[in-house]
Amino acid sequence: MRVGRALAVNLNHLSYNFEQLKKLCPSPEILFMVKADAYGHGLIVVTHFAYHELAINNFGVASLEEAMSLRENLKDDQFEIYVCSDTHFYLEQHREFYSSKRIFPVLSSMCDLDVFLQSSNFKHFPLCLKFNTGMNRLGLKDCAQVIQKCLAAGRRSVYHLMSHFACASSVGNERNTEQSDKFLEIKKLFKDSGIDVERTSLANSGAIEQGLAMAENFVRPGLMLYGPSALERIQDKNEVPKNKWQGRMLSSFKSNIIKVFKANKGDEVGYGATLVRDAGVVVILALGYGDGLSTRFENVQINHRGMLGTFFGRINMDMAQIFFKGKSVSDFKVGEEIEIWNEDMQSFLKLSRQSQIIPYEILCQISSRIPRLYIK
Ligand SMILES: *Cc1c(COP(=O)(O)O)cnc(C)c1O
Repeated sequence: MRVGRALAVNLNHLSYNFEQLKKLCPSPEILFMVKADAYGHGLIVVTHFAYHELAINNFGVASLEEAMSLRENLKDDQFEIYVCSDTHFYLEQHREFYSSKRIFPVLSSMCDLDVFLQSSNFKHFPLCLKFNTGMNRLGLKDCAQVIQKCLAAGRRSVYHLMSHFACASSVGNERNTEQSDKFLEIKKLFKDSGIDVERTSLANSGAIEQGLAMAENFVRPGLMLYGPSALERIQDKNEVPKNKWQGRMLSSFKSNIIKVFKANKGDEVGYGATLVRDAGVVVILALGYGDGLSTRFENVQINHRGMLGTFFGRINMDMAQIFFKGKSVSDFKVGEEIEIWNEDMQSFLKLSRQSQIIPYEILCQISSRIPRLYIK
């Protein structure tokens, strides 16, 4: 069935972004973050492509469910998976999945570490640890105690040591330096204790763009590989930010027109009977918050074939109105597609600026109701 609404995902742009990333950081290996359905782009297809076409071997997800979905859907693939936050490691039946499917829980609490070190199933299993260096969310804190526990359990190596920046999106933030220093200290404590640390990572997209923590042997990019920069944008609505990162937008998001009608000043349209203030055309678009079009898109501008429209009135579950001032009904056709954003990065960033919704959120919000179409 051919449908009007779609999130088109251009996988060639993932290849391009990956090449650009390798130019920014040639040495570290990539742990590609594909949590939240690969930031809305489709967990399975994106991971499959990254593994087979880009030779990326390491993937990060948030939950055990996401990791299980990867193992179940991509049975023959040999990549490594890290579960970074919602590990459910305290449940025995879940720990079973980690050991049998070779999924790495990133341990960030003492109790999980205790269970790991005491379990015979994990005796020879890669140990992955996340330390809190200043994010103050998850993460181990007492490094000396962690080392003591490892030594007592006969552990002589850590497979992957991680931490996470609190302010990576903020350029020149002092906290980033403090956290980097803290991470160095932790690594040194391990080294001095005789525990071998094989892999280390600290940098997400914002940090990579700033060149932070590039001495670690892994980086953990998410957003930048999907296109947008992670650095905070200048709030001036007309300012086009000039970041070092010039990624290509992977996705474009479109839907079709259901109805077009002429509106006069004083007419009332849709929920809340929003008042029309000028003569023009109202276009009803088959796209609403049930599809992931946030109600915060109200009043955001849309450029359609050079005509400037505005999301008008309330955004509904299944539909939204776009008002085109001064246009006539014959300028539009029912069934015609309207792009919410396209592969031109500026079309996406403009939406983000006007709606004040961060790129991460816009992408992750697109619901499962929207078919993903892959271009390659
Ligand atoms: C999501 C996530 C990342 C990636 O963050 P971006 O800002 O999208 O690059 C890196 N590391 C961890 C642990 C994460 O959860």
